[in-house]
Amino acid sequence: MNHTELQEKLWAFYDGELSGEDRTALAAHTDICSDCRDQLSDWKRTRDQILRPLRTAASEPFVHSVMRRIRALDAAPARLPFFVRWALPALAFSAAGFAASLLYVLQPSGASPESLLWADHSTNLSAQWLADHPDEDQILTSAVTPQ
Ligand SMILES: [Zn+2]
Repeated sequence: MNHTELQEKLWAFYDGELSGEDRTALAAHTDICSDCRDQLSDWKRTRDQILRPLRTAASEPFVHSVMRRIRALDAAPARLPFFVRWALPALAFSAAGFAASLLYVLQPSGASPESLLWADHSTNLSAQWLADHPDEDQILTSAVTPQ
């Protein structure tokens, strides 16, 4: 095996998947080749870091602090019942809608936008138009009346 072939089998050697002649060849090679030996030691170091069990245990003050917070949560007053949390906003919303419709119905009649638009102008305009233009009777009368 050349060095490239040996390197390609290095991972299988590390995993213990090689047997017989290949395994013997890789073991002999890693004894003399520092590159492959370093590669193997890097993999072992990485494995040890990743698979290392947690060494830190929870400290006594930490456990007491967590338990104190849990007890405080248990002692806190309960939240409002679901119906109250749901009904208060609903009641407020419907009351606002009722007030808006009441204001719309009870608005002063003289102050509506429509009345402001049409009240004076319509009578003045129609009176002006009638004064400027003869009505049907006047037209017919003038047509039949000899001049
Ligand atoms: Zn090598």
